[in-house]
Amino acid sequence: MATSLPYRKLSVGAFALQASPLQGQAPLAQMPRLADEAVHGVDDSVVQFQAQGSMRNGAGGQAQPWIQLQGSVDMALVCQRCLEPVSTLVQFDREFRFVESEDVALAEDEDCDEDLLVCSTQFDLLELVEDELLMALPVSPKHETCPGELKLSAADSDFEVANERPKPFAKLAQLKIPKS
Ligand SMILES: [Zn+2]
Repeated sequence: MATSLPYRKLSVGAFALQASPLQGQAPLAQMPRLADEAVHGVDDSVVQFQAQGSMRNGAGGQAQPWIQLQGSVDMALVCQRCLEPVSTLVQFDREFRFVESEDVALAEDEDCDEDLLVCSTQFDLLELVEDELLMALPVSPKHETCPGELKLSAADSDFEVANERPKPFAKLAQLKIPKS
């Protein structure tokens, strides 16, 4: 638990100035809203993320902190076709610009493509990773081939083998005929 603390209280300004990449991971169990979406294996799933901070000049020429954030997790969701668990890779890659207040974020939000967040010295990076993964969840997760369909086709081939089985015996029987 102690290892996740720096990600929970990140100084955005210092991180952006430092400009060194951060790589981390956190158990899915530490992201309760996301873990709620998993049908099982919450204790085995690990969220991977990496962040890169930078300072970039804004429209007014002043330097602003940015963070590029990527995250991914392999988690079991419910297949919308067969309702069995389906292992699904959920991932995102986004950029965030940090502004001084909620008012500035609201005022500038419509005019820019990037996401705006309020700068903080105790920014919860893990919560942002969780937010983004929640938004990246597939609307309708599905198996490429559902296990039920695999069972059906396996049953089909068994059936064919069973039908073909008598043939070699029939041939043997035919071979024996001339001998008698
Ligand atoms: Zn399925």
